[in-house]
Amino acid sequence: MGNLDKYFKDQAPYIACKAGCAKCCSNGDYPFSEMELSLLKVGFSELDDKTKDIILTNIEQIKQDKESSDKTPFTYKCPFLINNMCSVYEFRGIICRTFGLIYLKEGAKAQIPFCAYEGLNYSMILNKETNMLDADMMKNKGITVEPKEYNIHYSFLTSDRVAHAFGFNFGKKSSLIDLLSGDRMFTREYFKQK
Ligand code: SF4
Repeated sequence: MGNLDKYFKDQAPYIACKAGCAKCCSNGDYPFSEMELSLLKVGFSELDDKTKDIILTNIEQIKQDKESSDKTPFTYKCPFLINNMCSVYEFRGIICRTFGLIYLKEGAKAQIPFCAYEGLNYSMILNKETNMLDADMMKNKGITVEPKEYNIHYSFLTSDRVAHAFGFNFGKKSSLIDLLSGDRMFTREYFKQK
């Protein structure tokens, strides 16, 4: 993850991420793997009972909303987001750590994070008419740091190629709510036994 910190530092003139801004956790489908879920579970287990209870209530609500929704993909506020802060920050997933930078996606042009359209990262050089970053806007603002595209798309970072290179086994990948729904730790029964 050291490289990610560096990438964010390199792009500092464009990055508006700060504590309390939770746009990227407020509406998404959050791809997660079983390996990342294991880490999240460590974070969850360290929380106090009141916070765990809030998260379980959030999960129950999202599951209900999903059942009655025909949205594809189904998107939701992350159940771990409480008062606009991540309750499991140190244990968050890959998608949580990479969001906010421009990234490369196989077979597609560089992708601009959606928060650029909401006045946040890269918004100062986003031409909303062309949906492209604008070199003239950059010059006019006196920004000399080039906006860079990083190979940090979730599907690449959790690909078999990366898994083999690092000896990882990501396991099943799915939307976070689906992984949580299939895990006993995130049920009231398990919570009561503790
Ligand atoms: S786990 Fe934390 S950082 Fe990741 S989407 Fe949820 S609230 Fe946001």
